[in-house]
Amino acid sequence: MEKTVPFDSSTLDGLLQEYPTPFYLYDESGIRQRMRDLVQAFSWNEGFRQYFAVKATPNPRIVSMLRDEGSGADCSSMAELVICDRIGLSGESIMFTSNNTTSDEYAYALQMGAIINLDHPNLIDTLLAAGGMPETIAFRYNPGPERTGNVIIGNPQEAKFGCTRQQLLAGYKRCKELGATHFGLHTMVVSNELGVQSLVETAEMLFELAILIKHELGIELEFINLGGGIGVGYRPEDTEVNLEDFGARVHHLYDNKLLPAGLKPRIFMENGRTITGPFGFLITRVINCKETYKKYVGVDACMSNLMRPGMYGAYHHITVMGKEDQALTETVDVVGSLCENNDKLAVDRALPKVEVGDVLVIHDAGAHGHAMGFQYNGRLRCAELLLKPDGEVEQIRRAETLDDYFATVKF
Ligand SMILES: *Cc1c(COP(=O)(O)O)cnc(C)c1O
Repeated sequence: MEKTVPFDSSTLDGLLQEYPTPFYLYDESGIRQRMRDLVQAFSWNEGFRQYFAVKATPNPRIVSMLRDEGSGADCSSMAELVICDRIGLSGESIMFTSNNTTSDEYAYALQMGAIINLDHPNLIDTLLAAGGMPETIAFRYNPGPERTGNVIIGNPQEAKFGCTRQQLLAGYKRCKELGATHFGLHTMVVSNELGVQSLVETAEMLFELAILIKHELGIELEFINLGGGIGVGYRPEDTEVNLEDFGARVHHLYDNKLLPAGLKPRIFMENGRTITGPFGFLITRVINCKETYKKYVGVDACMSNLMRPGMYGAYHHITVMGKEDQALTETVDVVGSLCENNDKLAVDRALPKVEVGDVLVIHDAGAHGHAMGFQYNGRLRCAELLLKPDGEVEQIRRAETLDDYFATVKF
């Protein structure tokens, strides 16, 4: 799909007058629409709920916007729970899917009435110490050799998440003995997946497991959480997941597997990437160019603003503003200023001829973009701006200052 931007150049020029680069710009209409499309695709399931994976874009304004669209929140840390608490999301609107969890985190999640999704039965005692067994409990399944996973999550057998089938069954049994009365099942084995077939196979695996759980333990699951993992078409040639098709295929499986087995669970998902990823843009300016053995375009953003290319070799499309129609005559590395050679936002990228002062728009940075920011080399986190449906732009997070940076140390 051709990569376009949801703002015109005069809007951007206005922003550039007001805010120093780099900054993130999110498109509210796009985010809301994506959420609505997902809910629509699963509207056949009474009780369907999407829980936004807060880690993707942990900005309270984004999470409350999604709350207003009916979304719950998927949290995995104290800070993510606090964001939700402070915007009034609690109770079964929170899915606490953590791993390697501390007792403090469980205590807070229990206080909020969150649905606890245990990574492993060895956390039952931690949970009991934190406040007791809640009425509703879920487990995260790791299928091991049953599924092949993909590049971001890796091979399930090597993945640190979840528990085996035997552990899962033993876990439900113990929680039931300890007083739990409502049960759910969860997995998350693929990430950034563009193939509908793979996403559907995850649902099929969980549906079959739900039937086994009923046979073995007499437990009828009340919800099945398919996880997140719907991909983003980062490259112009990628095809986005057709949510309607995905929903319809899960519906078919539901009717043909679960209903005949006497099961009628709610379907949950906890997507992050697909909800905000395509609707966030990192805006940066070219500050230096040089030619050595390659041509380098130095920008004022760096890997600490967007870690995905350095971390996973991820592709993010780049538009040079005002040069959209020019031929791609140069092959360059777009680099930041960190003293690390993987601080590259693009490698061997064909771009129009770029000059100092040009503004680059880095696409599909709305999820795991600002969120993965860090302060190495004393590079500070940048601002986040929200483009509203009426065309107004609001700053929803200011840029960090040196005072923020030094706030935790003594001289
Ligand atoms: C990251 C994560 C998600 C969301 O994944 P996306 O790829 O952003 O949809 C959902 N659930 C868990 C447990 C996660 O760790």
